[in-house]
Amino acid sequence: MTIANVALEQPLATPLDYRVPESLSAACQLGQRVLVPLGSRQVQGYVVGLTPSHEVEVEALKPIVDVLDDDAPLLTPALLTLTRWVADYYMCPWGLVLKAAVPQGFRVRSEAVYRLTPQAQADPSAWPGGRAASALQLLAEQGPQRRGELARKLGVEVKEIGSLLRRLETQGWVAGEQQRQAPKVRQRMVAMVRLTLPPEEAETLRQEVASRAPKQADVLVHLIEQPLWELADLQALVPGARAAVQRLVQRGAVAMEQVEKMRSVIPKANGGHDALPRLTAAQQHAFQQIEVKLAAPDGVPVLLLGVTGSGKTEVYMRAIDTALKQDKTALVLVSEISLTAQATERFTMRFGDRIAVLHSGLSAGERFDEWRRLARGEAHIAIGARSAVFAPLPNLGLIIVDEEHDTSYKQEEAPRYHARDVAIVRAQQERAVVVLGSATPALETFHHASRGKYLHLALPKRVSEQPLPKIMIIDQRVHATPNERVISTPLRHAIADRLERGEQCLILINRRGYSAYLQCRECGDVPHCAHCSVSLTYHARGRTLKCHYCDYTQPAPAACPVCHGPVLHHYGVGTQQVEDVLRALFPEARLGRMDRDTTRGKAAHERILRSFGAHEVDILIGTQMIAKGHDFPNITLVGVVSADGALSIPDFRAPERLFQLLTQVAGRAGRGTRPGEVLIQTFRPDYESMTFAREHDFLGFFQHEIQNRRLLLYPPYMRLAKVLLDSPDPERAQTAGEWLAGQLTRHITEPQRLEVLGPAEAPLAKLQNRYRWHLMLKAATSRELHHWLQQTLDTVQQDRQQLRNVRMSIDIDPVLF
Ligand code: ADP
Ligand code: ZN
Repeated sequence: MTIANVALEQPLATPLDYRVPESLSAACQLGQRVLVPLGSRQVQGYVVGLTPSHEVEVEALKPIVDVLDDDAPLLTPALLTLTRWVADYYMCPWGLVLKAAVPQGFRVRSEAVYRLTPQAQADPSAWPGGRAASALQLLAEQGPQRRGELARKLGVEVKEIGSLLRRLETQGWVAGEQQRQAPKVRQRMVAMVRLTLPPEEAETLRQEVASRAPKQADVLVHLIEQPLWELADLQALVPGARAAVQRLVQRGAVAMEQVEKMRSVIPKANGGHDALPRLTAAQQHAFQQIEVKLAAPDGVPVLLLGVTGSGKTEVYMRAIDTALKQDKTALVLVSEISLTAQATERFTMRFGDRIAVLHSGLSAGERFDEWRRLARGEAHIAIGARSAVFAPLPNLGLIIVDEEHDTSYKQEEAPRYHARDVAIVRAQQERAVVVLGSATPALETFHHASRGKYLHLALPKRVSEQPLPKIMIIDQRVHATPNERVISTPLRHAIADRLERGEQCLILINRRGYSAYLQCRECGDVPHCAHCSVSLTYHARGRTLKCHYCDYTQPAPAACPVCHGPVLHHYGVGTQQVEDVLRALFPEARLGRMDRDTTRGKAAHERILRSFGAHEVDILIGTQMIAKGHDFPNITLVGVVSADGALSIPDFRAPERLFQLLTQVAGRAGRGTRPGEVLIQTFRPDYESMTFAREHDFLGFFQHEIQNRRLLLYPPYMRLAKVLLDSPDPERAQTAGEWLAGQLTRHITEPQRLEVLGPAEAPLAKLQNRYRWHLMLKAATSRELHHWLQQTLDTVQQDRQQLRNVRMSIDIDPVLF
């Protein structure tokens, strides 16, 4: 007898044990998906352990209902090891990590189906009233119903119907039974037509039928030329081919069969046939160093710091080529959906259908197929966003993390993993080489490189003869007329200039902050918390300034504390507003807008970018999503409209984000034959993020900012965790936070090594009717952080009452605040 340890796709702290019934013992392997009972439901899980055992022990366990993968297990041992690490490190149930790792097309659903009990049928007059009566009535009239169906037909939420049905079940009015639903995603099968006669006989037949059945003759012509056809293709050539084929099947001349057809998203490309550019000296050097690592992986990550347009992608592709020649596979992580289209195109030009693409912009069916192509070894390069870090690549040799500093690598819901950090661990576990590429690495990453923990490679110049664009800072305190509030005079002139020359402009609105803030009209200062070095958020109600780390509060000053100038309340400028102003200024210009509102649909990003690339748009206005990666040679002007917005974000990384954003967006200018220019509007012209960006000086910015991190004890000098408490009850989240802070404090042994900040109201204080408070934990090392948290959580477990009606979530190495 065998016991299977199964990680369920459920918020359960640990995997559960099940008995493997005799009938499934051959099929049940490590890494396999299985269906198991959980309470009254059947849910999907993954076998993460198998142990032989005695009868007696096993008898008490519930049996596995079914094994869901019919051939090889879905998860390789390597992926089990990796996801286990993610679960432990990010303190998230293993099953939920697996759920995030595997495309949803692999999810089996089972749903309860409800019917009336004989008791209910016997005496409708005794039914309870209200909504219960409508549900019972519906079951009486329409027969057994799935839970979801009932909810829809009664017009209520699935959650609500759940509790109603449970009540009716205990009272004996209805009976529920789990039934497995057909999977939403299946293999796609297509009909193929095959010639079964030898060609000469087919030719004889064709002549025989030619006059009587011309369609059959036509079909035979094609089949003689090429004996295997997809029926759909034949029908496109010969209208009515289906009937003709059926006739030919009856004659015994052809056979029909169903075969699987992958929904590949890779355009049919000329993989490998484009001419390779000759590497620059810097590229050559970087490539050689990576080759050395590929030949003998030593576990040391590589940082490729290359300015925008320095040809990092070419280095990645050469390295991939080397890995493939060693019969290894490669994983390429790119930062966001808007980027994947362009990146995919370049990689497919080079590698053709050896690539599989994995990102959230694909349909569930496409992802399902791409995943299987990788797992079966039919594709050797996976390219995709965050979750592609879990791509099933056997014999992994190389991982590329492009734009490694990008915040989109961090998942903001459980499991709250950082794909770049998971990539580094995966490379270590599988003896692969990991290359982190960026023009503006995360401070943490560069810190490691500067201390020799990572190998530092550099591409300091652009490939093209064009230098990096000239960046100018426009002091908005000087350009102060009301007309200039959105677009200053110098920026207006610069745009007019480009329009006249038929060149394109990019206008960036920096609007990640959702909070209002104060800024001095004269010196540009934004009030910061004295303890936390984050900007204070302005609360109009009560006219106060608040710190969202430590909850420090002060009255909003009437004048600037630094220079006594008048203060302004800022609420940020929106893309729509900028579009309106530009339309009024330049009625002739063709404007495009790219922000969360205009990019809802699946292909919206691509459509907007394509029309910009085709120069159907003169000025593209957008949020940070326009700053990344795109390569449009005709952009010669980049304008940044509200650079200061970033200063208001209550996040110690705000200066770093601003530097990255400015550098990235500047990198879009002047990539073609004409030089680029960048204009940044700000009330803080001497702020370091602006001045170092102006000089294209990453190193200078790093040296400045790392000092702040050291002084204020932020990463990389300390490790952080954020604990979010949210509740529908406005007071519960706060009191639970206070209680938890007390528990954490009790477990502090060395005050220099562990610190708890808060509770403070989260910057997003209310979300979906839940009130949010958070705590910030600092620890000298990640080991101490985990130990401390775990100890505290153990006590919390014994006193669950204190967290009643409160949801708690833990974020290790948080990125956004
Ligand atoms: P990055 O990723 O560093 O921003 P890219 O890889 O996009 O830079 O390269 C910028 C441009 O230079 C691209 O159009 C690319 O095709 C081209 N390029 C890269 N390497 C070379 C080279 N060695 N010779 C000529 N062109 C190159
Ligand atoms: Zn503070």
